[in-house]
Amino acid sequence: MQAAFEDILFKPEPDREDIKVLLSTEGPQLERLLRRGLEVKLDRLDNYVHLRGLIEFGNVCEKNCLYCGLRTGNGKVARYCLSDEEVLECARLAQTLGYGSVALQSGERSDPGFIDRIERLVREIKKIDGGSLGITLSLGEQCEETYRRWFEAGAHRYLLRIESSDEELYYRIHPRNDKHSFHTRLECLETLKHIGYQTGTGVMVGLPFQTLDQLAGDLLFFKRMDVAMVGLGPYIPHPDTPLYRYKDLIPPAKERMDMTLRMIAVLRMMMPEINMVAATANQTIDPQGREKAIAAGANVIMPNLTPGEYRESYFIYPDKACVKDQPDQCQTCLDIRLAAIGHKIQYNAWGDSLAFTKKH
Ligand code: SAM
Ligand code: SF4
Repeated sequence: MQAAFEDILFKPEPDREDIKVLLSTEGPQLERLLRRGLEVKLDRLDNYVHLRGLIEFGNVCEKNCLYCGLRTGNGKVARYCLSDEEVLECARLAQTLGYGSVALQSGERSDPGFIDRIERLVREIKKIDGGSLGITLSLGEQCEETYRRWFEAGAHRYLLRIESSDEELYYRIHPRNDKHSFHTRLECLETLKHIGYQTGTGVMVGLPFQTLDQLAGDLLFFKRMDVAMVGLGPYIPHPDTPLYRYKDLIPPAKERMDMTLRMIAVLRMMMPEINMVAATANQTIDPQGREKAIAAGANVIMPNLTPGEYRESYFIYPDKACVKDQPDQCQTCLDIRLAAIGHKIQYNAWGDSLAFTKKH
């Protein structure tokens, strides 16, 4: 059994059954798996962590995902949208702090005014310091023309989680209608890749009804899609969402955290040179969660740059980590936390996915 486990750890292309063995590890085998994720990362990517200054642009959303606090059906949220000047102020701060990149994220909107504004803002951010900031967008499903306009304006990475690659589970966590089509989501990912974005996707771990087989399927999906980036994080139940009624069906926080770490380590073995985000949700359910994710194979952190007065309204899930931190505090804290686990921040660089840059 032990030999079989060690063999799987060194397989470059583990199959579904192998992955399920790795995702079931406990105790010393789990520690060994996480060490393997770290070894592969250090070997292929070094100990650098890339930053994306996160700008939570607005919480207005046309969608009704059953797990998310920003869903349009949640009447308890005070809706906001940053002004152009506030967004540019955040981007200038990212530049001053040496983050190298920003990520613009918001609820999903497809009205022409929103699309025009994003295009204009991307162009304005590109003017800062001669275009030195990389730009990731995470603005949901859009048509090809919109994705293309934003790309031509200067955005070069796009994060659109599939949430679950299993169609049946997808429809248990989304309404089954045209606005929440699994196939549209897949098409969007293909379109983003085709346009030339570094395309990222990801899933929530520990959802109600989610099985080990589906999680193994998610990892095989990332590989099959040949994505450049992945963002994995634990699901956190939000009381004002329909999925909350199943909260007693989900694993305890520690198990959701451990499963997220197993997923990160196995994915690092399968896709050694992609960028992988240590999601804020990790830190929300475990104070050391982000560092644990980095030590299992993740290599990207997204410190929050959203102006303080809006942060609590970007209420995706309860008890979000770092909601009250100031950016400079956040940076010092990150430097110290990462140094403690033998990592360092790569300042003033875009920190592109090596898997992507080698291919293009
Ligand atoms: N609206 C865009 C989208 O859906 O792609 C971007 C913003 S959305 C809030 C960003 C991510 O938050 C989603 O992809 C989802 O995985 C995550 N999220 C939403 N609700 C969550 C929850 N209750 N627990 C953990 N993650 C959640
Ligand atoms: Fe809107 Fe994104 Fe939340 Fe879905 S996950 S409700 S699209 S903000």
